[in-house]
This record gives sequence, C-alpha cells and structure tokens, in this order.
Amino acid sequence: MKHLADKKQCTGCTSCANSCPKCSITMVRNAEGFSFPEIDSGSCIDCGVCRSACPVLHGKKESRQNTIAYAAYTKNPKIRKESTSGGLFSELASEILNRGGAVYGAAYDENFRVVHQCIENSEALAALRGAKYAQSELGDCFSDIRKRLKNGQKVLFSGTPCQVAGLKAFLKKDDDNLFCVDLVCHGVPSPMVWESYVRYRAERDSDGLMPESVNLRCKDSGWSRYAYSVDFTYPCGVRYLRRNGEDEFMQMFVGDYVLRESCGNCPEKGYDRKSDITLGDFWGIWDIDPGMDDNKGTSLLLTHSEKGEKLFGLIKCRIQFKKVEAEEASRMNPAILMSVTHKKERQETLAAISSGGFQPLNIPDNERTDLKTKIKNKVKSLIRKVSKNQKQ
Ligand SMILES: Cc1cc2nc3c(=O)[nH]c(=O)nc-3n(C[C@H](O)[C@H](O)[C@H](O)COP(=O)(O)OP(=O)(O)OC[C@H]3O[C@@H](n4cnc5c(N)ncnc54)[C@H](O)[C@@H]3O)c2cc1C
Repeated sequence: MKHLADKKQCTGCTSCANSCPKCSITMVRNAEGFSFPEIDSGSCIDCGVCRSACPVLHGKKESRQNTIAYAAYTKNPKIRKESTSGGLFSELASEILNRGGAVYGAAYDENFRVVHQCIENSEALAALRGAKYAQSELGDCFSDIRKRLKNGQKVLFSGTPCQVAGLKAFLKKDDDNLFCVDLVCHGVPSPMVWESYVRYRAERDSDGLMPESVNLRCKDSGWSRYAYSVDFTYPCGVRYLRRNGEDEFMQMFVGDYVLRESCGNCPEKGYDRKSDITLGDFWGIWDIDPGMDDNKGTSLLLTHSEKGEKLFGLIKCRIQFKKVEAEEASRMNPAILMSVTHKKERQETLAAISSGGFQPLNIPDNERTDLKTKIKNKVKSLIRKVSKNQKQ
C-alpha cells in the first residue's frame, strides 16, 4: 500500500477501490478484521487516480460557520421505538424516497454482517433503521451513487463521517441531488469481533441457531440516561436481553478495545462537517431541556448546509423539535469533538479474538466500563481541556 494513506490513518472508505479505472484495488480484511485496499501490481498502471480520490491524502476541511443544532424526535411512535434515538433518519429518508430517490444506509445481511444497502421504497426502510456497531462494508456503493446522480436521481447517503468524507472525495464535486447524513460517531468496532460475537451468543443462547433479530439499542428498558439494552431474539423463542453495560460486546465497543486504528485520530471531528446533516443521541437533553425527554429517544440534529436545512424543513410537520446551542449539545456528547483513546490492550484483545474466537474481556467486574461512567469521565476530561484552553 505504498501509494495510499498510511494504515494508521486509512479509514477503509473504499474511495480508492471505486475510483480505480483498472479495477486493480480490492478491499481486504486484515487479521484485526478491518478492510484495507490492496493493489494488484500486475494490472496497476500507476495513474494516481486512487491517490487523488483518497480523503486522507487530499481531504479538504470544510469551513462551515453555519451549523444549526436541534433536539428532535419523530411523532410516529413505532418508528421512534425501532430507532436508536429520535427516529430522524427514517423521516429524512422518507422524504427522499417519496420523491423517487434512493437511500443508502447500513443493514444486517442474513449472517448479521453489517453492509451498506441501497433502498428505493419505504417498505425496505426498516432494515436500515437502528445503529449497528461494526464498521459496515460499502462495496461498490460509491460508483452506484455516481451513476444515479448522473441520471438525475436524488440520493441520500447515510454513514459514518469518514464514509461521507470518502464519498465526497470520490465524487470530487457536490451535487444538488446528493444529501449526506453522517452520525456522531464514537468509533467503529471490528466486523470480525462483531461477527464472532454473534456466533458466540448463538452458541450460548440457542445451541448455535442464529438469532432472527438483533437490536443493540433496545428501548424496552428506556433510552434516557443511557438506559437502553442489547436484545438478541431467536427463532426458538429464546431472548437474550441485557442492559448495555452488562453486555460483553458493548463493554469492548464502549471501552475502546476493538475500534479501527484511525478512529484514534479522526479528522472528521468538530462542527465543520462534510455532511449536510449530522445525527446523534441527544445525551444530556434531560438536563438541558427536560420537556424534550420522555425516555423514548431524542436525537441531536445538526444542519451544516442550506441543503441540509431545507431537507430538515420538509420533515418539521412530522417531528417535535427545539433549536439549541451547538456548544451545549456537545457538552454531554464528547464524540462530536474528540477522537477515542484506544485501550492499551486493544491489539492483544483483537489478536486473541482473531485466533480463538470471541472471548469476554479478562478484567474484574468492578473495572468494566459501562457507557454511563465512560461518558461521565469523558465529559469531565473535555471540560478540563476546554477550561485549560480558555485560561491560556
Ligand atoms: C458505530 C456508531 C457509533 C456511534 N456513536 C455515537 C456516539 O458516540 N454518540 C452519539 O450521539 N451517537 C452515536 N451514534 C449515532 C446514533 O447511535 C444514531 O445512529 C443516531 O442518533 C441516529 O439515530 P436515529 O434514531 O435518527 O436513526 P436510526 O434509524 O437509529 O439510524 C440509523 C442510521 O444509522 C446508520 N448506521 C447504522 N449503523 C451504521 C454503521 N455501522 N455504519 C454506518 N452507518 C450506520 C444507518 O445507515 C442509518 O442511516 C453512533 C452510531 C454508530 C453506527
């Protein structure tokens, strides 16, 4: 990979693979389970197209001063229950689908691998709903999006900030018909770890029979104050339901044991996003505006462009919303501004799972990080950093 971004920084966005005129680049998983581009030196003509399409080597920082922040949730109770936070992704996607557009987002395939899919009707929207906590496979989505835009079709692409940066670098120019929605992203776990965990659960819960549904953000136990649960439901009627901090995969994800290396130095943090809209959980809304928190999920929605603000305008009649200060929103959600710090045991954890299958963290119960304590600690450290900067 001497031509492309350093492995520590490569986000695996697929822009290079999709742009190669000779199809000489394949995305291949490494031992940790993350995909990286591999160049076939036999067919490569060294034209440099892949390098110019790399968001790490050539990504421009947007300097947008016009971010507007909202707390919001859909008035549709079914969509809200099935969604991670306030169900805004589904409302935005519906607007595009109703206008004959295509929507790209992350779904589970039949083996619970996380893959990006394209949908063109509302019946298929449920598959894209909900957060899947593994880096998704994009395949040839970017090339497909370019074809649709050339044909004048509207497209909504939803993904992590680095995936949006990849798409923008691949397309090189903006298009009035393209709407990009990114997430407030903690970091992406290894797909290898996630897939091993699904098999591990199936063996323990139902003699190896795969689950029929998985919901990592089940709201049966509530949403407010990080009260959500992990839910695996099996065809035999068995259900595994645990509060997020008690689940062995969530401990690894939230504890920063199994994230992609580039997540430790993410260039897409901050408010100057390449997307038109950013969505996240509005953690802390219970303190900022308790009237917007009924424990069923509230989204943080940031608009960064006129296009984003217009799309948001179209869904206003179907949602409950309130404008808030952007800085206030990030106070309890450090993932908007700060990259993760990988655990020092990251490499050994990934190596052990890669060679021996999923195994829980070998740490005492009282040292296991649950989301609530972790966010509290991060908020404290963020506040310390901000006040130190202000003093200087
Ligand atoms: C890996 C990951 C980490 C996150 N970290 C945070 C965080 O630290 N703080 C925070 O406030 N919010 C975080 N989020 C975002 C949050 O969980 C919700 O996805 C967001 O609030 C949108 O919720 P919703 O109710 O509007 O819609 P939902 O229907 O819940 O959102 C689904 C959307 O998320 C996309 N999506 C789901 N999984 C993936 C994936 N693996 N890769 C790319 N796109 C995906 C789908 O394409 C779809 O567009 C994270 C999401 C992911 C996937």
